[in-house]
Amino acid sequence: MTAAVLAGAPAAQALLGEARRRAAALPVRPHLHLIRVGQDPASLSYVRGKDRQAREAGLRSTVHALPEDVALPALLALLDHLSADPEAHGILVQLPLPPHLPPAAVQAATDPRKDVDGFHPLNVGRLWAGQPGLAPCTALGILALLRHYGQPLSGRSAVVVGRSPIVGRPVAGLLLAADATVTVAHLRTPDLGRVTRDADVLIVAAGQPHLITADMVRPGAAVVDVGIHRLTGPGGAPHLTGDVHPGVAQVAGALTPVPGGVGPMTVAQLLLNTVQAAEAQLGRSAA
Ligand code: NDP
Repeated sequence: MTAAVLAGAPAAQALLGEARRRAAALPVRPHLHLIRVGQDPASLSYVRGKDRQAREAGLRSTVHALPEDVALPALLALLDHLSADPEAHGILVQLPLPPHLPPAAVQAATDPRKDVDGFHPLNVGRLWAGQPGLAPCTALGILALLRHYGQPLSGRSAVVVGRSPIVGRPVAGLLLAADATVTVAHLRTPDLGRVTRDADVLIVAAGQPHLITADMVRPGAAVVDVGIHRLTGPGGAPHLTGDVHPGVAQVAGALTPVPGGVGPMTVAQLLLNTVQAAEAQLGRSAA
């Protein structure tokens, strides 16, 4: 058996189409503000991609590029200003931040109604209380990907490997809200394979290349590989790979590729979150 490929591109296009349609129905264009600190090459590339895709989806987008040594009060002042600005609907601070800028302080300084990354403590609480709010983009993107391909969640056994606030925890909360029976595994979990073999739906966000091998997967399971790693092949050529060993494709019923699986969903979901935030601020929805 070879697993069905859960490609991100068609599912991301569906989300982008929805974002474009809902943005066009609003009296003003939703405006996303992207804040980047320093010159980290990955952050530069992520912010550039988010800015470009926001414009392509018919949103307004503004990038605030701050110097590496920006003081915490200056960053918090910018967040205060944007939080109070009725023309700013979504605010995202690109992570990681330099060590002198504590992410928790920065995340708590954004108006939760504009927190399109879903990291504000109020939005984290709402997610776990099963209340509407803004949830983290990669986690929402994973659920949207599974739904796009008709993967059932209600009543199924879902195992999440990883408990980071960015991926593992929020995806576990969303799976619970979708009526899955959820287990969260982490570094202290003994016999990881025993836990993962129980999964009908296995989400792997551990940041460890090829951690999950074929013997750790229940035959027919749906496997989502969130990990992304740049490895160097035998000839010195770089290639991207995930947390899931390629041999899992022989056992799983469905599997996301790396690259081209979860990756495209994250930005598409960010734009949908921005539209959702704008709708709520403009009184067009209950969220
Ligand atoms: P973190 O490093 O913040 O968290 C990793 C989690 O995995 C931790 O909870 C850790 O456990 C757990 N873990 C690590 N090793 C093992 C192991 N051997 N067995 C069981 N659990 C383990 O990573 P992130 O959540 O931020 O990211 C995970 C991966 O997803 C990375 O490769 C990242 O690049 C990728 N990513 C991809 C995105 C996309 O859009 N495609 C977006 C975000 C991330 P413990 O808590 O005990 O330390």
